[in-house]
Amino acid sequence: MKLSIVVPCYNEEAVLSHFDATIRAVLAGLAVEYELCYVDDGSADGTLARLRSLAQQHRGTTRYLSFSRNFGKEPAILAGLRAADGDAVILMDADLQHPPALIEKMLDLYQLGHDQVVAKRTRHGDRRLRSALSRLYYRAVNRWVDVELTDGVGDFRLLSRTAVDALLSLPEYNRFSKGLFSWIGFDTVTFDYRNAAREAGETKWHLGALVNYGIDGMLSFNCRPLRLAIYAGLGLASLAALYTLWIIGAALVGGVTAPGYVTLVAIIVGLGGLQMVMLGLIGEYIGRIYYEAKRRPHFLVKESNTAAPAPAPADAAPAGSRAG
Ligand code: UDP
Ligand code: MG
Repeated sequence: MKLSIVVPCYNEEAVLSHFDATIRAVLAGLAVEYELCYVDDGSADGTLARLRSLAQQHRGTTRYLSFSRNFGKEPAILAGLRAADGDAVILMDADLQHPPALIEKMLDLYQLGHDQVVAKRTRHGDRRLRSALSRLYYRAVNRWVDVELTDGVGDFRLLSRTAVDALLSLPEYNRFSKGLFSWIGFDTVTFDYRNAAREAGETKWHLGALVNYGIDGMLSFNCRPLRLAIYAGLGLASLAALYTLWIIGAALVGGVTAPGYVTLVAIIVGLGGLQMVMLGLIGEYIGRIYYEAKRRPHFLVKESNTAAPAPAPADAAPAGSRAG
């Protein structure tokens, strides 16, 4: 069998050579044919130059492609999956936070017939606030999302050819991998590992990015948040009806009294806020439709040492060809 390792790299010059050497040492100890597929996600440092020289050094086992600018990790993963031609593919970060030593275990589980072998990281060693927040987030999101999202489960996983082909058949522009992996299903097995510290370079995730990622997770998979808006509207309308009855009753019993300025302002402002949130929510969905409707490719490649990855069916069809 042949194993492909897909590695998205964004400004990973500091760690890339070390990563490459480590991973090759591990792979050499396993009796499999392998290839490394690096995707340079528009890095501003010397990542691409490193990739070129790695590809020179290890001809035949190294593929790389480089984006015309930074498109993000999700498009980089997609590009890697399209380029990889192994019977199984492992997705790994370039910073060695995903321990290469686990590859052997993943292969063993794959050979038992699993299509997705998922390494789930324990939150050990994370900052306490961050791990508490993510636990809270996953608890909330799982009530509102159709596919199951699990805390600690990320992109570090092995996918069988079947699973890879399934992922590649999903044409959407907004790719929230975590949800996609869960959506395709297939025989999945999960095991725990302890997260390592980044070897070098620095993380590209900051609080703002995490919050946006969180919102993506909520909205990428269904329209249930819109259902929430309907419930909120119904609840508020019923409250308003009760309140009206109460006021009419009070006026009948005790005559008309005029105070209530504060109540009025609070209600107006509160409802205004709620309406903004709901509008934003609807706007998010429309924005997504807008992006999908443009049917742009997920990324542009400026350089690569491998045949241009076959475009996915959706990208191949010229706009307008679906008329009728
Ligand atoms: N990455 C990428 N494009 C981006 C951001 C990150 O390809 O826009 C890659 C990065 O090079 C690394 C992986 O995604 O291989 C994970 O990134 P990072 O280590 O910064 O995230 P963290 O481990 O802190 O969640
Ligand atoms: Mg990392």
